[in-house]
Amino acid sequence: MKALVYHGPRQVSVDEVPDARIEKPTDVLVKITSTNICGSDLHMYEGHTDFDQGRIFGHENLGEVVEVGGGVDKIRVGDMVSVPFNVSCGHCNNCERGLTNYCLTANEPGVAGGAYGFADMGGWAGGQAEYLRVPWGDFQCLRLPEEAKSKQNDYTMLSDILPTGWHAVEMAGLTPGETIVIYGGGPVGLMAALSATVKGAAKVMVVDRHPDRLKLAEQIGAIPIDDSKGSPVDQVMEQTGGRGADRGAECVGYQAHDPQGNEDNALTLNNLVASVKFTGGIGTVGVFVPQDPGAPDELAQQGKARFDFGDFWFKGQQMGCGQAPVKRYNRHLRNLIAEDKITPSWIVSHNLTLDQAPEAYQHFDARDEGWTKVVLNPTQ
Ligand code: NAD
Ligand code: ZN
Repeated sequence: MKALVYHGPRQVSVDEVPDARIEKPTDVLVKITSTNICGSDLHMYEGHTDFDQGRIFGHENLGEVVEVGGGVDKIRVGDMVSVPFNVSCGHCNNCERGLTNYCLTANEPGVAGGAYGFADMGGWAGGQAEYLRVPWGDFQCLRLPEEAKSKQNDYTMLSDILPTGWHAVEMAGLTPGETIVIYGGGPVGLMAALSATVKGAAKVMVVDRHPDRLKLAEQIGAIPIDDSKGSPVDQVMEQTGGRGADRGAECVGYQAHDPQGNEDNALTLNNLVASVKFTGGIGTVGVFVPQDPGAPDELAQQGKARFDFGDFWFKGQQMGCGQAPVKRYNRHLRNLIAEDKITPSWIVSHNLTLDQAPEAYQHFDARDEGWTKVVLNPTQ
């Protein structure tokens, strides 16, 4: 089959690889019809991780079931399914408590949490390929309505960024009528903004500096905050009568840039602490990788963030962080799409074939204007 294969920093190509196939009775084989490029792929693409050459990217997968193992009794051939990016078994102590983001079976002993096409997440092959093997298929696959075939740009967001944005807002503790500031207007930040709106936020502010991304935030009623035009903290204070936002979400990660050119690998976390009110809550889904060999200074290379814990402590804030447990939210979010309550496809900028993926990676990595979210169809 054809798959997008990693060959070293910023080097990917579409290669012929051995077919994905059923290996265990609980496996499901999915023909991939939508697989997205994610900001998380860029950590590996840029060479900041120990992702092995020869491996396949792709953790945002949707497609049609073409074969099921003998032990699968719920999912059937022909079903359209969304596959959560977390690989999870459904029967370990963490999965039983709903913590599928920290499955104890999907990674090596002593490390919790698995994912498709990721470094350090269990070595599972990704879905930027014609076919994907989904282990524990009955537990993992989310069955989609028939209309998913013609509305793939909406349903494809269920595998990762929509539940992830929702999780950020959930961890921040948002309740209806509150204000929230979201750092990062990339796909994840935009999904957090959409989630906050659906959850009844009185005011949603999105901080970024790319006009196209800020415009997408504005399209769903959020207030765009352009940090190239002055301190984002000051702008949030202005918007909130000097009190700060009730809640905040971090949707950038360790790769945050400062328009002023200062290097601070915890810039967005420190800005959040400053932008959010005393006793407010923060949800951090942006990735802070444990090892970042490409980081500008030694501390960051050790995976340590320059987080100002003193200010955070003084303000008595709370923070949640980590990978999102997609399965906790994807059913409800699927139903909101099915009932036309949300249309997350508004952020899709490109629908491309797998052969066009190497070029798409270049543009998305450069944050080129207009390249917000790329959806690949490997089997069209
Ligand atoms: P992205 O890189 O496309 O978006 C990040 C955005 O942040 C960009 O638009 C950039 O301009 C903006 N930005 C950079 N510096 C900033 C700053 N100082 N202040 C405000 N905005 C700034 O990536 P994405 O796909 O939206 O993903 C965002 C993060 O979420 C990544 O770290 C990704 O790995 C992570 N992620 C986490 C999970 C999870 O489960 N926790 C899931 C998916 C993605
Ligand atoms: Zn992703």
